[in-house]
Amino acid sequence: MPRPPAAAPPQPLPAPAKVYLPMRQHQGAVAQPKVEPGDKVTMGQVIGASDDFEAANVQATVSGTVEAIIEMPDPSGGMVPTVVIANDGADAWSEELASPENALASLEEVGLTRPSRLLKRVREAGLVRSQVQGRPLHVDLSPPMAPQSYLYMTGIPVVRPIDTLIVKAVDPDPPVCPNASLLGEAGDTLAVGVAALARISGAKRVILALPSGVDASALSALAKQREWETASVSQTKYPFANDHLMVLSLTGREVPTPYGEPRDVGVTVQPLSTALDVGSVLLSGRPVMERVFSVAGEVKNPGVFKVRLGTPIGEVLQAAGGGPSQAGKVVVGGPMMGLAIYDLGTPVTRETQGVFVQSGPKVRHYADHPCIHCGRCVAVCPVNLIPSELGKLCEFRMYEEAAEQNLMNCIECGCCAYVCPAQRPMVHFLRHGKTEVMAGRMEQ
Ligand code: SF4
Ligand code: SF4
Repeated sequence: MPRPPAAAPPQPLPAPAKVYLPMRQHQGAVAQPKVEPGDKVTMGQVIGASDDFEAANVQATVSGTVEAIIEMPDPSGGMVPTVVIANDGADAWSEELASPENALASLEEVGLTRPSRLLKRVREAGLVRSQVQGRPLHVDLSPPMAPQSYLYMTGIPVVRPIDTLIVKAVDPDPPVCPNASLLGEAGDTLAVGVAALARISGAKRVILALPSGVDASALSALAKQREWETASVSQTKYPFANDHLMVLSLTGREVPTPYGEPRDVGVTVQPLSTALDVGSVLLSGRPVMERVFSVAGEVKNPGVFKVRLGTPIGEVLQAAGGGPSQAGKVVVGGPMMGLAIYDLGTPVTRETQGVFVQSGPKVRHYADHPCIHCGRCVAVCPVNLIPSELGKLCEFRMYEEAAEQNLMNCIECGCCAYVCPAQRPMVHFLRHGKTEVMAGRMEQ
């Protein structure tokens, strides 16, 4: 049966006149700026760094002059010191990166390089798991830090080594679909990226999770050649790409609730775009300068673009033909799990993968209405919670009682808010409640 073609590859956008580079582009610690206004910088030069393990290096993504260091909102809404660089248009690499010495020549070299060295290169490049509030990749791949949140909450150390790597080529929050545009990228970069991720994490088994119903034949062929397993993931039932549910369906292992992570059951899950980032860093010896960024929703020409890191999101929307005439909402991530931004100057960062745009009339407005006990939220919750009860407990600040009813198992998928006829802000209640429970536990 003929398959539909894979989505078109990302369209490259020219670098902007100015880039805005936040000193934190992930969940974790903020790096300190290593430059001052007036400094000349080159591409790849480290402009932000920290000794804190939970921070990632930040590099200049254009050559030019540091114009200012300002506080700006990052995609999560927090204010972060941000280095503003005026682009000189030369795209000049720093001296040591003009002809990098540590570029790997071939896939075979991955197998000959110590995992700690590969991890060091990932850390030096400042790679971040590409999802909103993703962690620095070196933290995500480092077993000693792995169970930190679990330890805080339970005191139980988890020492199971990772034996399985799942590379997720499925987009978690359609129609924002950066991975779909990368299904044709089955060359050396991906082979090296996946091999390195497996070597660093210790995984012997690699599973490529491919979306069903689209042409992923290039990736399937590469998987066969590399002896990776493939699994077809149906995209009909949201949240099909949730990490915990995917681990259960592909490996039969249940991630412990409420605070567990896939690594607690010996699995690491990495997006396809992150695997490509790793391959690019190792083969080129240079940090990643661009992000594949999907623009979906009410813009004239929705599409996927290759965007210089630090480009204001407003400029990417212009490249997609501009937003609706009646201003609405721009959500980083996707319509179900994304975070709305309030400033179109917010830059594209390593943790962003795309935006979803809605016009004013289409924006769903939440209301202060009481629950009418229709039960719709209970019917749709993919982890079998009773969202209506949890919502009420969180609304009335009964956080511990909500925790006793498994609040912390909520994966914040947004299904309950989507179906609620009373328009209750369910995810806001639940997310806030979870934060309060975590804060309470940390104090104990
Ligand atoms: S957001 Fe709502 S539907 Fe989704 S897991 Fe949490 S309680 Fe269940
Ligand atoms: S869907 Fe809304 S109104 Fe219906 S039970 Fe759930 S919270 Fe209450």
